[in-house]
Amino acid sequence: MNKTIAVIPGDGIGPEIMTATLRVLDALDCGLTYDFVDAGMVALDKHGDLLPKATLDRIAEHKVALKGPLTTPIGGGFTSVNVTLRRLFDLYANVRPAVSFPGTKSRYENIDIITVRENTEGAYRSEGQTLSEDGEIAESVARNTRKGSSRIVRYAFELAVKKGRKKVTAVHKANILKTSSGLFLNVAREIAREYPQIEFNEMIVDNTCMQLVMKPEQFDVIVTTNLFGDILSDLCAGLVGGLGLAPGDNIGEHAAIFEAVHGSAPDIAGKGIANPCALLLAAADMLDYLDMVAKGDRLRQAIRDTMTSDRDSVTPDIGGKGSTDSFADAIVKRI
Ligand code: NAD
Repeated sequence: MNKTIAVIPGDGIGPEIMTATLRVLDALDCGLTYDFVDAGMVALDKHGDLLPKATLDRIAEHKVALKGPLTTPIGGGFTSVNVTLRRLFDLYANVRPAVSFPGTKSRYENIDIITVRENTEGAYRSEGQTLSEDGEIAESVARNTRKGSSRIVRYAFELAVKKGRKKVTAVHKANILKTSSGLFLNVAREIAREYPQIEFNEMIVDNTCMQLVMKPEQFDVIVTTNLFGDILSDLCAGLVGGLGLAPGDNIGEHAAIFEAVHGSAPDIAGKGIANPCALLLAAADMLDYLDMVAKGDRLRQAIRDTMTSDRDSVTPDIGGKGSTDSFADAIVKRI
């Protein structure tokens, strides 16, 4: 395969984990060429724009991007670059797998849950946020559509079929949010009938939080709306040892952006101790997306093998004594 992807190194720890990730991808010999583009603070400094048009054009051209975390400056009226990218490219499916890794301290050992989060509507629409002139009344209007709910639920079922998963759980709050969450739930019930081979169940979001903490083994694929998916997927990341192991895939009809769930981690930037695994796991998902499933699996296995047999080389966030580079070196050795 000969494919060019857009690469956004990102802010904070972004360049450190991106360098490590590309080194591992090169060792896998995937035939990828990298087109480096600027976004975030680097782009603001260089071009006076957090998200320059040239960057958007190159993502549109290559259709696939690997992205480091981007800092959203606080104040100054900046909107999140991440949210803008999802909206501009209509990346409606945010797929966030949470999988246990050997030797990583967490409460459970065999977690394997994929959260499929609607990424473009719900409570996160910027148009839905208003504040009265006197600053006394704030409104946030959640808007779910039949089209948006249908495509995300269908995406979750298709993913379940493709990956041989057994069950899809639709998470909602339709008992209280009768219209927005109710529409999503009704659509989920309708679409579930088209997939009789996949078990379907529905669960209210507050109960889901408790069930995830107490009996996570009952979950396989979760499909839910934007806000609930954002929160539940971090909860799932916590079940497997934290954000350093959580990839986030943003998928649309015409483009896909693969990234880590975590942010730019300014507290550890420049120290060489950032865990590269979340971005590496996102890169493995990108290889699946590019029909290089065997290479994606090889990468996941090399990460697993490193965590099992080379604890000294892994980063401190998951109990090791190593650095970003030593972790990447150890993975390259096992490719
Ligand atoms: P964060 O995810 O950057 O950091 C939270 C904690 O997790 C920190 O203690 C950090 O050191 C640790 N951590 C994160 N990634 C790690 C890694 N790979 N290895 C080891 N430890 C890691 O969250 P934050 O501090 O709230 O956000 C910082 C900035 O990142 C903000 O500007 C925020 O807007 C941005 N952000 C961007 C994205 C994205 O690009 N998708 C996502 C979340 C936050």
